[in-house]
Amino acid sequence: MTALDNKILESALAEMQDPVTAEPFSKTAKIKVESTDDGAVSAEIILGYPVARYTKEIVEAAKKLLSNQEGVKSAEVKVGWQVIAHEAQQNIKLMNNIKNIIAVASGKGGVGKSTTAVNLALALQAEGATVGILDADIYGPSQPSMLGIDGTPDSPDGKRLEPMMGHGLQAMSIGFLIDKEMPMVWRGPMVTQALEQLLTETNWRDLDYLVIDLPPGTGDVQLTLAQKIPVNGAVIVTTPQNIALLDARKGVKMFQKVDVPILGIVENMSTHICSQCGHEEPIFGSGGGEKMAKEYDVELLGALPIDPTIRQQTDNGNPTVVADPEGTVSAAYRSIAGKIGAKLAMQKRDFSTKFPKIVVQQKK
Ligand code: ADP
Repeated sequence: MTALDNKILESALAEMQDPVTAEPFSKTAKIKVESTDDGAVSAEIILGYPVARYTKEIVEAAKKLLSNQEGVKSAEVKVGWQVIAHEAQQNIKLMNNIKNIIAVASGKGGVGKSTTAVNLALALQAEGATVGILDADIYGPSQPSMLGIDGTPDSPDGKRLEPMMGHGLQAMSIGFLIDKEMPMVWRGPMVTQALEQLLTETNWRDLDYLVIDLPPGTGDVQLTLAQKIPVNGAVIVTTPQNIALLDARKGVKMFQKVDVPILGIVENMSTHICSQCGHEEPIFGSGGGEKMAKEYDVELLGALPIDPTIRQQTDNGNPTVVADPEGTVSAAYRSIAGKIGAKLAMQKRDFSTKFPKIVVQQKK
């Protein structure tokens, strides 16, 4: 019996379609095949982003494909992922303990930015990633209540903060540190400084992704943040009304100006599904997000309905992705999270942490 050619088997697997991107695995995964003389094959497919939801499907399809190749007697397939660090804006160094930072922004308040941010963070976690969330919405920090977290963070050394934990996410928010009743009267530079501190002085533990829930709007604070904080990609949340879209356009322009790649747009409160009869109606108009995505050449990552259960669950500290993980709304969040992970994985890799720091010393 002739030995199997592992390279041919690898090429066959590389032509399979990645279920998240619809691209061949040759573009999104590393594939390794080993085989024995008696036709036992074991393959490993390693993606650059977590795909728990598709693991079984990929394993089955790959096994079937391998079993149909000549000379293959048995096939074992393992699917895994390895998230790597990617480049942020020019000249901004990534943080050692965070591989990728995703900013969730909106042109104005009340469009569901925080709801989307927390559900996307949980969806990335559900796919298998280690995820954190930084609530940078300094004027209205809502992540503590959305994650159902009470109390204040520990600081064993009196300098750095331990992240709080909510539904498995590492979380930090100015809301943990201030009196909730106290109005925030900070000016721009104070806000940016406080946020930089929250980001850099929290003991994040090996995050694949940190989701930042940015303050709404596109003013100086947001612009400075987008310039100072290393961001690998931005997600813009909007509702379909023209007025919200106008503001969201400003958001797209702001990130383009500071060279932060826009991963895409999420259209929130897209349609209303009547809880009595199930009829679906686009009460705020339809196709707005899609039109805007086309106009700016950015992807419409997905749309979420206006649904009172999203509000009830999220506002009560149990965001939909954990409250109803198998529901259609969670599926929508997970589909968006998959696209975000895939898009980041296909970006340029960051080497800034790999090079030694050069120290110039004067000879005595
Ligand atoms: P933002 O961060 O943009 O100010 P929030 O995420 O705080 O907005 O959402 C504002 C309100 O709208 C919250 O009460 C939230 O629960 C609710 N909400 C957000 N998205 C939806 C949705 N798709 N359907 C129903 N209610 C929603």
